Amino acid sequence: MAYSVPDLPYDYAALEPHIDEQTMRIHHDKHHQAYVDNANKALDGTEWSDRPVEDVLAALDRVPEDKRTAVRNNAGGHYNHSFFWRLLKKNEGGKPSGELAKAIDKTFGSFSAFQDKLTDSATKVFSSGWAWLVFSAGNLGVTTTPNQDSPVSKPNQKEIPIIGIDVWEHAYYLKYQNRRPEYIKAFWNVINWDYAAERYADALKTS
Ligand code: MN
Repeated sequence: MAYSVPDLPYDYAALEPHIDEQTMRIHHDKHHQAYVDNANKALDGTEWSDRPVEDVLAALDRVPEDKRTAVRNNAGGHYNHSFFWRLLKKNEGGKPSGELAKAIDKTFGSFSAFQDKLTDSATKVFSSGWAWLVFSAGNLGVTTTPNQDSPVSKPNQKEIPIIGIDVWEHAYYLKYQNRRPEYIKAFWNVINWDYAAERYADALKTS
């Protein structure tokens, strides 16, 4: 089964005013579609074409070398964006609760210290990439990846994304132009904390 772009679990305008409708339309319908089309093209005819995208990304070193860069970029883009759409939901200034909140406090000292750290990391990503809260080897951590590299691809050190912020210009330029920090500030208003908590609970089960 070739990959396809999942429907957004909300309306294109649902994240207004933090993330605008036009950005969501182009980001989801055009950018994500292009990653899917190019991933399918790269994997077509290989033994990997029917495998879940996480499995392909976790085994990039075994993907045929002439396809590897295209798969890394485009299957990575497909995985990262499929995660990102589900992670978003207007939260009206909400914060995490339950086990995830406890783990954030324990790891970073407080929610606001965590917020500062992820904000700082996202602000400093040079050019295009992502900043993440990941679960790895029993711990939470903040990390960044360039391009569409995905935490699930890190060799010998599987990292499970709990939160991810896309800081490619296509994610914010229509509304925020060069003002990435304003977009990152807005991002804190559109995190679906229930989904992040669910990811954390699932990650705990695998550790
Ligand atoms: Mn993007």
